[in-house]
Amino acid sequence: MSARIIDGKGMAGALRARVAAEVARLATEHGVTPGIAFVQVGADPASQVYVRSKGKAVSEAGMRAIDRTLPVETSEADLLAVIAELNADAFVNGILVQLPLPKQIDAHNIISAIDPAKDVDGFHPLNVGRLARGLPALAPCTPLGCVMLAKSVHASLEGVEAVVMGRSNIVGKPVMQLLLAENSTVTIAHSRTRDLPGVCRRADLLIAAIGKPELVRGDWIKPGATVIDVGINRVQVDGQPRIVGDVAFEEVAQVAGAITPVPGGVGPMTIACLLLNTLRATCAALRLPCPAI
Ligand code: NAP
Repeated sequence: MSARIIDGKGMAGALRARVAAEVARLATEHGVTPGIAFVQVGADPASQVYVRSKGKAVSEAGMRAIDRTLPVETSEADLLAVIAELNADAFVNGILVQLPLPKQIDAHNIISAIDPAKDVDGFHPLNVGRLARGLPALAPCTPLGCVMLAKSVHASLEGVEAVVMGRSNIVGKPVMQLLLAENSTVTIAHSRTRDLPGVCRRADLLIAAIGKPELVRGDWIKPGATVIDVGINRVQVDGQPRIVGDVAFEEVAQVAGAITPVPGGVGPMTIACLLLNTLRATCAALRLPCPAI
C-alpha cells in the first residue's frame, strides 16, 4: 500500500476538542451554553442510532442536546408547529431534522420552515443560495468535513483538478460549491456521465459520494491523487455484515497518494462539523465574532 491514510477520526477528535474549548469559553465569558434540538419523527432504528451518536457528541462538547422525538403519525402541520416553537426558543441555537421523514410530511416544507440562522444542517434554501453566491452561510456538515480532510493533504486547493462523484443536494452539490470557493477546478460526475473512469483519472482530488459499494477501482485513479470516500454502504462479506465505501480501498490505496478509510474517514468529520456549525450559529446569535477554528 502506498497511500497515506487520512485519519478522519483523529482530525474529528481534534476539531471536537477545539469546539469544546470555545463552548467552555462561551459559558465562562457569556454564561451561554449552545443548544441543539434533534427532531425525529418515528422510531426508525438507523435514525435512532445516528441521533444517539450525534447527541453524545453534543453533550461531550459541553452543549445541550434537546430530544424532540415525535410519533410516526405526526402530521406536517404538527411538525411545523414544533419547528416554529424551536425557532422562537432562545435556548435553541441549532435545529436538526432527521431525514427521511414519513411520507405524509414534505421534507422541503419542513426544512424551509427552519430559521436559517439555526439551520446547522445547511439545507435551508437561503443557506444553499448564500453558499452558491459565495456569501457566508451555514454549509452542510459532510461537505465541510470533506474539504477539511482534503486540506489536510493539500495546503491550498487553488487550481487543483477536483472531480466530485455524485450531485445530491446534501453532498455532491455543496462539496462543489465549497471547492469552487477554494478556487479548485471542479467537475461533477453522476450516473449519466460518459466514461466515468476517464473523468476520475483526471482528478488530483477525487470525492466519491454515490452510494455504490466499491465502484471506484484502482485503475480509475491518477497516481498520487487524494481520494475522499463519502460512501457508507452496508454489504455482506462471507455472510458477515460490513460497511464499505464507494471506493475499492485496497486497490485504490496502491495508486492514490492519500485516502480516507471507511469507516473512520468522512463519517466522524460530519459529526464534528455539526458541532462546529452549532458553535458558529450560537456566536452569530450573540453577535460575537466567529471563532477561528
Ligand atoms: P444520493 O442522494 O443517492 O446521490 C447519489 C449520487 O450519485 C447521484 O447524484 C447519482 O447520480 C450518483 N450516482 C449513483 N450511481 C452512480 C454511478 N454508478 N456512477 C456515477 N454516479 C452515480 O446519495 P447521497 O445522499 O449523496 O450519499 C452518497 C453516499 O454518501 C451514500 O453512500 C451515503 O450513505 C453516503 N453519505 C455519507 C455521509 C457521511 O457522513 N459519511 C453523509 C451523507 C451521505 P444521479 O444524480 O444521476 O442519479
